[in-house]
Amino acid sequence: MPGYQHLWKDGTPVHLPLGKIVCIGRNYAEHARELNNPVPSEPLLFIKPSTAATHITRPLELPRDQGQVHFETELAVLIGRPLTNTSASEAELAILGYGLALDLTLRDLQTKLKEKGHPWERAKAFDGACPLSPFVPADKLPRDNIHFTLDIDGRRQQTGDTRDMLNTIVPLIAHMSSQFSLLPGDVVLTGTPKGVGPLESGQTLSLELEDVLFVETKVL
Ligand code: ZN
Repeated sequence: MPGYQHLWKDGTPVHLPLGKIVCIGRNYAEHARELNNPVPSEPLLFIKPSTAATHITRPLELPRDQGQVHFETELAVLIGRPLTNTSASEAELAILGYGLALDLTLRDLQTKLKEKGHPWERAKAFDGACPLSPFVPADKLPRDNIHFTLDIDGRRQQTGDTRDMLNTIVPLIAHMSSQFSLLPGDVVLTGTPKGVGPLESGQTLSLELEDVLFVETKVL
């Protein structure tokens, strides 16, 4: 999206270009079940282009006339080193920061594409489909059991904890790098916990990552 630049929590720019956004579907078993999807036997990966990124604090402009747009609140990992077919220990060293993202999804369209066996891009990769928060340095968060929440209009909607992931962060990044290279400035989205649903105009979304990051946005 024009004007997007990775930021640190204090507002200073991260001196890395925005790259691609690599995502995993169905990384929390209870979310796979709520959409009646089988739990995959290997990571289900897809990519959002850099044009999907937007600052989460900007009011969310949703596509119109294409059915429901669902929110999926996800822990985002900012990659700081190039990774190709890497080991877990190298993958861990490449984690520069953590933030929160919304993996916005045209759910009705995705359902149709899935039924036809077609790729998901049109449902997941539109301009603005990846609102991103500022990032906090990786050493400000625990290594395990990272906790995050989404409230909509003051009501708890999603609660995530990385201990519930089917593929935990470091092995997931190593696996992604065996499929395609990750570059500094790329972002990894680690999947949504249960509780996804449609966005409505006028809603206020509040996202919190541990006690280190709090962001708020509105749906236009
Ligand atoms: Zn997702």
